[in-house]
Amino acid sequence: ASFEELGLNEHLLASITELGFENPTPIQEKAIPVLLSGTKDFIGLAQTGTGKTAAFGLPLLQLVAVADKYPQALIVCPTRELCIQIVNEIELFKKRVRGMHVVAVYGGASIGMQIKDIKKGVQLVVATPGRLIDLIERKAINLEQIKYVVLDEADEMLNMGFQDDIEFILQNTPNREATWLFSATMPPEIRKVSRRYMNEPFEVTV
Ligand code: AMP
Repeated sequence: ASFEELGLNEHLLASITELGFENPTPIQEKAIPVLLSGTKDFIGLAQTGTGKTAAFGLPLLQLVAVADKYPQALIVCPTRELCIQIVNEIELFKKRVRGMHVVAVYGGASIGMQIKDIKKGVQLVVATPGRLIDLIERKAINLEQIKYVVLDEADEMLNMGFQDDIEFILQNTPNREATWLFSATMPPEIRKVSRRYMNEPFEVTV
């Protein structure tokens, strides 16, 4: 398939062309049409380097309402480095989507600056679990309107001891309409989380 066949809008297709992406990777081809529905839970078994950031980032940029200046999508990932990498990639895709704002929240950096950025009116939040929970407890972020939650490198997050944090986050997104989980492996603990918090996920392995 080509990018044109996946259901992405013209703004996103223009950015993709500009970036020099010629064809979707397997995870993009399989995930994007499903994720664009906005209502289907999804599990993608994919390693890093397979293009999974675009696989979830592009659908989010199309589903989120730019007119609404509050967090609507939450991407949770294990490390500060990955957090920054995801935001950088989303920044490239969203160049033609006016009024779309994304913030990275992670530990080891000024929480005050991050709170200030959130207050500016961001639609997309990319976060590591610990800092996100800190922000929730300080009531500096409102997850009430979060419709989409992405768990990126879920196995890595569990290895790092974030299982309780992940469950806390899932329990505190009351209006979550879809949960998308990406992982390189599928240990039993991740199965358990998916059974508890996801509804008949569409599963893809690449
Ligand atoms: P990721 O697995 O999301 O970390 O992506 C790995 C790298 O592949 C990133 O540098 C992306 O910009 C690049 N990439 C993602 N999708 C495509 C594509 N369809 N064609 C060419 N490069 C891509």
